[in-house]
Amino acid sequence: MTGVWHVLGAGSLGGLWATRLFRAGLPLHLILRNPQRLAEYHAAGGLELLENGTSRLYAIPAELPEATTPIERLLVACKAYDAEAAVAEVAPRLTKHSEILLLQNGLGSQQAIAEQWPESRCIFISSTEGAYRQADFQIVHAGRGQNWLGDPVNRQRPPWLGELNLADIPYTWAEDIMAKLWRKLAINCAINPLSVLNDCRNGELLNHPEPLHKLCCELSEVLRACDQMDAADGLEAEVLRIIQATAQNFSSMHQDVQNGRRTEVSFLLGQASRAAHQHGVVTPTLRELLDRLQALLRRHGLPDD
Ligand code: NAP
Repeated sequence: MTGVWHVLGAGSLGGLWATRLFRAGLPLHLILRNPQRLAEYHAAGGLELLENGTSRLYAIPAELPEATTPIERLLVACKAYDAEAAVAEVAPRLTKHSEILLLQNGLGSQQAIAEQWPESRCIFISSTEGAYRQADFQIVHAGRGQNWLGDPVNRQRPPWLGELNLADIPYTWAEDIMAKLWRKLAINCAINPLSVLNDCRNGELLNHPEPLHKLCCELSEVLRACDQMDAADGLEAEVLRIIQATAQNFSSMHQDVQNGRRTEVSFLLGQASRAAHQHGVVTPTLRELLDRLQALLRRHGLPDD
């Protein structure tokens, strides 16, 4: 065993990871944002995981960011727009060679954290697992998937990966995690905004082949300009495959807008758009979609970043 896990954020994915690590007997602390959330957590008696039709409550120890015990391994399970500020709150507790595991979707938040805390090893995670909160501290494990873990500057596998086997958390150590993250970002950029703007399930996007095709071409060009050849290769075919496989689903961004929740647009389309600008790639379809999407978010009273 190689030290205590600290899980920052007890939401959907943080809860899914925390309950599985805890029930495998691994030492773990949850970090909740403030005394009110901590009191609510204690009143709930722990984190409940609903899985395969059964539910179990796990009384995982929880604490506030300002607790004083050192943190060697921090799993950051906040949304991308909250991640940097959340890490800043616990930063004084990070040990010199601590590890920060970043579960955020899209790109941008991971790099900001890696730059801000260079003495920590940052491990980026691309997850296709599915979880949602049925109520506060009640997590539903909704979809099986995979977690790709990797470190863009150090390919050495961390010694604690075996703990994920113990906890039954599916994972693959990715030699090229940036390719995984860029590919997922591009897929999200192709599907999410169109599903929000057309207010439709993923499958209905097949009725909009032209914008989808133009978008995939522009995104592939952006990926190539960023030296992400593998991520660019076959992008449109994979987007079409995913649309067919998830035809009945609403995209995560569609669900966020529908539920009045802030989206991670800045770390998805915003990031693609900034990369395009930086490399001089012209992306009129992406630009127009981003403008229309931001206007729609403002109309819904949601942040447009
Ligand atoms: P979520 O359910 O909204 O959970 C985020 C949690 O972070 C919330 O519990 C929130 O606390 C907490 N938080 C925010 N700021 C904090 C702070 N300063 N200190 C402590 N806790 C803080 O989000 P999620 O769905 O798990 O998503 C997390 C990331 O994983 C996102 O980037 C998402 O795109 C990615 N992801 C999610 C899934 C999925 O199926 N859910 C799948 C793949 C990737 P409160 O409860 O107090 O608001």
